[in-house]
Amino acid sequence: MQLKVNEVFHSIQGEGARIGRPCLFIRLTGCPLRCTYCDTAYAFTEGTPRELPDLLDEVCRRLGPPRKGPNAPFVELTGGEPLAHPSAPALLRAQLDLGYEVALETAGSHDLRPVPREVIKIVDRKTPGSGEEHRWLESNLDHMVSGQDELKFVLCDEADYAWAKAWCAERGIWERLEVLFSPVWGKLDPAWLAERIVADGLPVRLQVQLHKVIWGVARKGV
Ligand code: SF4
Repeated sequence: MQLKVNEVFHSIQGEGARIGRPCLFIRLTGCPLRCTYCDTAYAFTEGTPRELPDLLDEVCRRLGPPRKGPNAPFVELTGGEPLAHPSAPALLRAQLDLGYEVALETAGSHDLRPVPREVIKIVDRKTPGSGEEHRWLESNLDHMVSGQDELKFVLCDEADYAWAKAWCAERGIWERLEVLFSPVWGKLDPAWLAERIVADGLPVRLQVQLHKVIWGVARKGV
């Protein structure tokens, strides 16, 4: 079983509820979407085919022995769009079976049913500003685990904020899932977003991309 891998790198988790934790990232090649703000276009085509056992060996070598509990070794599958690979669920299952804490970053455009329930799913709900709003698979909401998975909105502008707020309210999302609001880097002012969240009393988590705060926007492999 092969997967085309763009890069494997150790860094800190730059986004989401587990922000700041050391994490091993596996970035798969390819994505059928073309978001207006995409910062990983280099992963659309660049990559090397890897056999699954070879990839798992590297995960074990770089993460060390698996362990449960706080600050356990942590691996995240990202992209591109990882679920565009038919073998991605098998890789996730194998990492869980090794005993690691496993996360998946996905655009919400592909069916989540093949993804093991225990995988922490960070699912992007693409907004109108992304240009890919229509790719959303609404049934994916039924396969997200309350208290574990996260629904992320990357917001381009004030219109995206209003849209995301209404979309969550219509579906009672606040009561079910951890919601992340993230401003597009360099486009939407994080201070404006923070003030709107507080003023509107929204139960969401504001996040900026910590890896860009630390290393800037141009650096790959972080
Ligand atoms: S889904 Fe992610 S990788 Fe694909 S185009 Fe959008 S931002 Fe880029």
